[in-house]
Amino acid sequence: MHQPKIVIVGAGLVGGSAALFAAATIPSAEIVIVDIERARADAQALDLAHATAFWGHDRVRAGDYDQARGADVVVVTAGVGVKPGQTRLDLAQTNARILLEIVERIAPQAPDALYVIASNPCDPLAAVAQQRLGCVRERVISTGTSLDTARLRSLLSERLGVVAQAIHAYVLGEHGESAFIHWSGASVAGMALERFLAHAGKELGPASRSEMLRSVHDAAKLIKQGKSATHYGIASGIARICQAIVHDSNLILSVGIVQPEVEGVPDVCVSLPMLVNASGARLLGYPEFDAGEREALRHSARIVKDVTDGILAAA
Ligand code: NAD
Repeated sequence: MHQPKIVIVGAGLVGGSAALFAAATIPSAEIVIVDIERARADAQALDLAHATAFWGHDRVRAGDYDQARGADVVVVTAGVGVKPGQTRLDLAQTNARILLEIVERIAPQAPDALYVIASNPCDPLAAVAQQRLGCVRERVISTGTSLDTARLRSLLSERLGVVAQAIHAYVLGEHGESAFIHWSGASVAGMALERFLAHAGKELGPASRSEMLRSVHDAAKLIKQGKSATHYGIASGIARICQAIVHDSNLILSVGIVQPEVEGVPDVCVSLPMLVNASGARLLGYPEFDAGEREALRHSARIVKDVTDGILAAA
């Protein structure tokens, strides 16, 4: 039987935490951690070997690019993080250079791999990787707004008193400042949000909705004030994407792939609710949006497209 192989490039906080979540949730997989600083990858693998010994999983190890041979999934978390006063988009050129270096090293070893890009700005980087690989769109997935959606569902769960899994509400567009909440498509416990609110005697007016979007946007800032970095949320999202690929589980997640066109913007990677399985990610159908959401998505797509074009022009 084929043993799935997941290669995580970047042994920092996000990569290390993603390896832990992946080891816990995909026990059949071999996980290889690669980093430009080999000592860091070795240290993560050793720490993870001790962690996973409690669960009987001993398939996490550090490696070099030649150990990426035959990888099914390549997760990219290598790069530099957002510094105070910087936006994710400021990071674009530096992290694009790192990403392209990784793609050059991995592609010959793992020609059939699916890529999951978490390094920021993840949406333009996914588009750049897909272009460089020259592969089908489905194979390069940006973690996109999966984390923002998890943050929204956590807030809504608290507000509405319903477990997060019963809340189908998505943050869509760019993983960044222009992300927006698809309120018109939200549903709770099988009811459209408005109907649920009426039944439950709860209110979620325009001010509360704006406040919720602000909280989603400010979540990373808030976490960084207290502990310098955010990593568990995205790491859990990465593991969920890997699991959907390895187990071919047809999950629906708000992630990004390059779409031929989004609200008039061509060849752009933004998040929409996608089917994720062994073939990668794909859009089952374009969601219905109200006029404000349509404009927000167009704005978001434009921002991602401009950054992507800027990187490609400089590459
Ligand atoms: P980190 O500094 O802890 O780790 C980054 C790792 O990348 C380091 O170990 C470094 O040695 C390695 N690296 C740098 N250049 C490399 C190269 N050329 N080849 C291989 N490895 C290389 O950072 P982190 O906190 O783990 O964050 C990693 C990335 O994830 C950042 O870009 C950050 O902005 C991003 N991030 C994304 C999300 C999201 O929702 N998409 C959330 C949090 C963080």
